[in-house]
Amino acid sequence: MKELLLVRYGEIFLKGLNRPYFIRSLIRKIRYALRGTGSEVWIHDGRIFVRGFQDLEYVTDRVTRVFGVHSVCPAVEMPKEDFEALCAEGVRMTADLKGTFKVNARRSDKRYFMTSPAINAEMGGRILEANPELKVDIHNPDHVLNVEIRDQAYLYVKVIPAVGGMPVGTNGNATLLLSGGIDSPVAGWMIAKRGVQINAVHFHSYPYTSEQAKEKVLDLARKLSFSCCGIKVYIVPFTEIQLQIRDHCPEEYTTLIMRRFMMRIAERIAEKTGSGALITGESIGQVASQTMEALQTTDSVVSMPVFRPLIGFDKSEIIEIARKIDTYELSSLPYEDCCTIFTPKHPATRPRKEKVEEAEQALDAGPLIEAALDGTEVIQV
Ligand code: ATP
Ligand code: MG
Repeated sequence: MKELLLVRYGEIFLKGLNRPYFIRSLIRKIRYALRGTGSEVWIHDGRIFVRGFQDLEYVTDRVTRVFGVHSVCPAVEMPKEDFEALCAEGVRMTADLKGTFKVNARRSDKRYFMTSPAINAEMGGRILEANPELKVDIHNPDHVLNVEIRDQAYLYVKVIPAVGGMPVGTNGNATLLLSGGIDSPVAGWMIAKRGVQINAVHFHSYPYTSEQAKEKVLDLARKLSFSCCGIKVYIVPFTEIQLQIRDHCPEEYTTLIMRRFMMRIAERIAEKTGSGALITGESIGQVASQTMEALQTTDSVVSMPVFRPLIGFDKSEIIEIARKIDTYELSSLPYEDCCTIFTPKHPATRPRKEKVEEAEQALDAGPLIEAALDGTEVIQV
């Protein structure tokens, strides 16, 4: 008897002719997630299995966090000929259960000496005898013991939900504007979950923002790195641009102009890295720079689509996801962000685009952007 993990994929099932491509990609991602565990991942009869591991709990934790995995079932594989042994295993697997159950047998080996209904009845009877806490309900059972008769027999009862989504890389690339806050890591995670390979841009204003603030952002990227299958982080020196904005632009527009520079630079990096979109962690009305007028003003400097997966989320909903993906504590460390220094006392909440453009005329944008790009540091995490 061998212990293994049956991996079920959700939505990628729907992909018609592309299905083999998605499945191959998912297998690669599961292998990546399990590197170093000695596990073997393979596909058989259109289903993905993992075996050869030492620690089921550890392997389950990793596989359930791979985008594209819908659920996993700890299963046993055993020779199908010895029906007594199959029943004994069925009894063992259901020994702790209470409530209602059914046995659900399926045969892809039609020459097997028992039919599916006969397996259901016989094994169900043995389980009822052994466990007085269980009753049969074939329509709406609390538990289903699956018995699959293929080249071997496979038995499983427990279904552990996984993260869902699609395998990273099957839906293109995008560039995340990653601050040290709560929102942007969540935004990146959500888009990556849809099968998008992300890279990240962080704007750093040393010495106004500290080395620790930069390390915090890299630590956030490291947290995301497992799910995102590695992230390249572009650290852009932003001090000079911020000082120029502070010295030459009206105070009420400084945050907005700064955001516009961020978008322009991020778009340049996105183009260079083959990204098709930018991602930010904004949500309507959260702060002055996230009113509808302000968002329009920042969007108007780039031609790439800007994905804002949190646009309709409350902060409490964002925090809930941040906790789930384990970025919340790191994000809550109290280091300053370049957005929080030079903050205007009364930022414009309903800026007119023409006014902002006019204010920006005081700056020589081209060379400032080129210098920032030249000074960019790239770190793979
Ligand atoms: P977050 O919680 O993600 O830091 P925030 O609530 O601080 O967001 P803003 O400061 O308005 O909101 O930033 C809005 C978005 O702009 C962020 O979600 C992020 O995508 C991007 N951003 C802000 N600061 C930076 C930075 N220093 N580097 C890269 N991107 C940034
Ligand atoms: Mg925010």
